[in-house]
Amino acid sequence: MSALVLWVLWLLAIFAIGLTLAYRRVGLRTSTIILGFTLIAYSLFGVGYWIWKALLWALFGGLVALNFTRFRREQITAPLLKIYRSILPSLSDTETEALEAGTVWWDGELFSGCPDWSKLTAMPAPRLSDEEQAFLDGPTDDLCRMLDDWEITHVLADMPKEVWAHIKKNRFFAMIIPKQYGGLEFSNLAIAAVLAKIAGRSTVAASTIGVPNSLGPAELLLNYGTEAQKDKYLPGLASGDEIPCFALTAPRAGSDASAIPDTGVVCKGTYGGKEITGIRLNWDKRYITLAPIATVLGLAFKLYDPDHLIGDKDEHGITAALIPTDLDGITIGRRHFALNNPFQNGPTQGKDVFVPLDSIIGGPERAGQGWKMLVELLAAGRAVVLPANAMGGSKAATYASGAYTRIRNQFNVPISHFEGVGEALARIAGNTYILTAASTVTCMALDRGEKPAVPSAILKYHCTELGRQVANDAMDVHGGKGIMLGPRNYLGRTYQAVPIAITVEGANILTRSLIIFGQGAIRCHPFVLKEMQAATNPDYDQSLRDFDRYLFEHIGYAISNAARSFFMALTHAKLTAVPVTGSLARFYQHINRYSAAFALAADVSMLTLGGELKRKESLSGRLGDVFSAMYLASMVLKHYDNQGRPEADLPLVEWACRTLLYQAQEQLHGLLRNFPNRLAALGLRILIFPRGRTYSAPSDALGNRIVKLITYPTETRDRLCAGLYTTKEPGNPLALLQAALEATEELSPLDQKLRDAVRAGLVTADGPMARIDAAEEAGVLTAEEAKQLRDLDRQVMELIDVDDFDGSELGTQTRSAAPARKKHTAKKKKAKKKPAHKA
Ligand SMILES: Cc1cc2nc3c(=O)[nH]c(=O)nc-3n(C[C@H](O)[C@H](O)[C@H](O)COP(=O)(O)OP(=O)(O)OC[C@H]3O[C@@H](n4cnc5c(N)ncnc54)[C@H](O)[C@@H]3O)c2cc1C
Repeated sequence: MSALVLWVLWLLAIFAIGLTLAYRRVGLRTSTIILGFTLIAYSLFGVGYWIWKALLWALFGGLVALNFTRFRREQITAPLLKIYRSILPSLSDTETEALEAGTVWWDGELFSGCPDWSKLTAMPAPRLSDEEQAFLDGPTDDLCRMLDDWEITHVLADMPKEVWAHIKKNRFFAMIIPKQYGGLEFSNLAIAAVLAKIAGRSTVAASTIGVPNSLGPAELLLNYGTEAQKDKYLPGLASGDEIPCFALTAPRAGSDASAIPDTGVVCKGTYGGKEITGIRLNWDKRYITLAPIATVLGLAFKLYDPDHLIGDKDEHGITAALIPTDLDGITIGRRHFALNNPFQNGPTQGKDVFVPLDSIIGGPERAGQGWKMLVELLAAGRAVVLPANAMGGSKAATYASGAYTRIRNQFNVPISHFEGVGEALARIAGNTYILTAASTVTCMALDRGEKPAVPSAILKYHCTELGRQVANDAMDVHGGKGIMLGPRNYLGRTYQAVPIAITVEGANILTRSLIIFGQGAIRCHPFVLKEMQAATNPDYDQSLRDFDRYLFEHIGYAISNAARSFFMALTHAKLTAVPVTGSLARFYQHINRYSAAFALAADVSMLTLGGELKRKESLSGRLGDVFSAMYLASMVLKHYDNQGRPEADLPLVEWACRTLLYQAQEQLHGLLRNFPNRLAALGLRILIFPRGRTYSAPSDALGNRIVKLITYPTETRDRLCAGLYTTKEPGNPLALLQAALEATEELSPLDQKLRDAVRAGLVTADGPMARIDAAEEAGVLTAEEAKQLRDLDRQVMELIDVDDFDGSELGTQTRSAAPARKKHTAKKKKAKKKPAHKA
């Protein structure tokens, strides 16, 4: 063997040993010892110029030096700490509170580059209690039966009185309130299930019920209220006698809610006939859900104390208070009209409204803590209500689209048979699987005491975006049937409601661009927050000790992620250990791979861009997408486990994981293409994609398998859409579509017989009914068979029909600007020339 080959082999051996040590995250000391022995062996037996060996020993000397902690701290860490302190962006209290809110759960594992799957797989499958199940089967079904979406959205622009009464009587507004105050005290899983079922029927009802069970007065009181406040308000909120709303948003402060201009000034005043120290409030809020009918207003404002009546500070910051809406100076009651989904939402103003100090939630000592309260509660709350509503709407769209595309024929075949329609159907079903998995598994974590801030942002963003895609696809496959509004339209209002979910509780563009990665990078990263806290510790010795420890652990972690990413990319992640065997194991392995690649890319992004990354929203958004894709794919795998791994559902799991992991790959690629530091981008590309982008999106064949699962009455279809209101009765389109689908399936042999007869020239008539008549006459079908096919055709046409109206029924005013039909043509033309407002 030539000397050159031997030299290369030795080099490869040293590289392999280094790679293994890094891949396995072996500690500094042990790694130093192993590499030392390797170098001794190389020096004694290996080939190569002495200068080369000297270089390796010099590098090794540096490694040895790192093992001397005092030397390392004083010579390396101390100067680095100085630089770090000077560049550490100063965080406002608001930002610090947002960053520290909530807990770190599975998201932390994904950020580690080496997820410990047992933390996810060990969690038991979620289960509703008997009481929760009874509530779903009883009062929730009853409510669904009472909901007539057209009446609500068009005729009344509100829910009818009996629906309001049912909601209050059955304490739908009190699902989060403990039993001791008269509430239902349901788990998050149950709240999501109730909302999803209702959302499949009416977005207005789901939004109305969602708000009091989300971030609002009850949640704030439960977490921060004084006992007196809880006793005063919670029983009324539970019984529905009190209607709550929470007002944060102002015309000048939407996404930047911490900039609210609304004020409260501590001063003396008269309340209930007595002179007291209280707060004089002035506000102008908009977009507030339930405000028009609220009796208790949760209000966020900035508190000032110029006369120092409650402390030394002039300004306390954002504060949250509870205010009865019947006080003097309050304007409330007008309504906004949210995209034809007329749930109660409107503005409110307050002019010099004087309230006692104990209106502050948690009492005067909680003055200035309003923002902290809100971000803490949002940390968990965003994972429940909006994702549940998206889940309910998407399940309903899947159930309806699967049946509708099977019973609707064009070009003489069901439209579900067309590949183009099939693509949309596969997306509808696959996306519904993803958001159902994400919602139920994350609710399970919440019910086990987690308050995962970053996953809740992931859920808010992705479930509402997936819901938007499902709504778009469902509209497309329904054609005009989805567009013509009226009592027979079961899609239009949900479609119209999509931007509402996208905008509320943190608008989606902001959530993707700033929050998911921005918060995740600090919160879920194993070292960044610890380094920041260590660096800002005023005790210098402790600061240096801690900073040194976390910094070197961080460096080891980054080297390990580089090694893991490179090795797993080279081997297509085939050698990484995962908790399952079989076809799904590959998805676990790819999540391991992307976890390491993502952690590496995140570190390099933070290192090279620093504070600039906050402004590079497109890069931060892409990193957030990679993180989200891994999170959602893990939820899909766990959900499949929780459902007992039904073999028939595998195509959905595969479609979901492939779609998500392909997105992870493409977003990493997009990050590298746009990375400002080209040298760093090149290094990252070598470590992340040494073999190029090899992961593929779901195949057409896989999509076709999914289409069959949802356009036939299968168990997978039932499992995917479980939890919808599907009682067969007039006015329930989902149940009627299912019945038509089942009948179509049952009568398909007869339909085939008829088609064969047409093809053979035995039946020549045109049109479905005429053909059935002709087939009966020709003896192709018996009288009974012909009747069954006629009944089916009528059943299908009932569902395909849309509504039409007299023009006067559509406007809110009887006078129409459109020319009357019976008028002379010439007059019509003349009328058209006139601008409508002058007509
Ligand atoms: C139907 C409905 C119900 C609501 N209910 C309530 C309620 O009960 N109580 C309450 O207090 N509020 C409520 N809101 C207000 C809601 O929270 C705000 O609408 C939301 O915070 C966005 O504010 P904005 O509409 O003013 O949009 P803007 O803040 O003007 O944002 C417009 C766009 O810019 C994007 N954007 C803004 N800043 C950034 C950034 N830094 N980076 C990237 N993108 C950015 C946003 O994502 C959005 O796409 C409701 C709103 C609606 C529509």
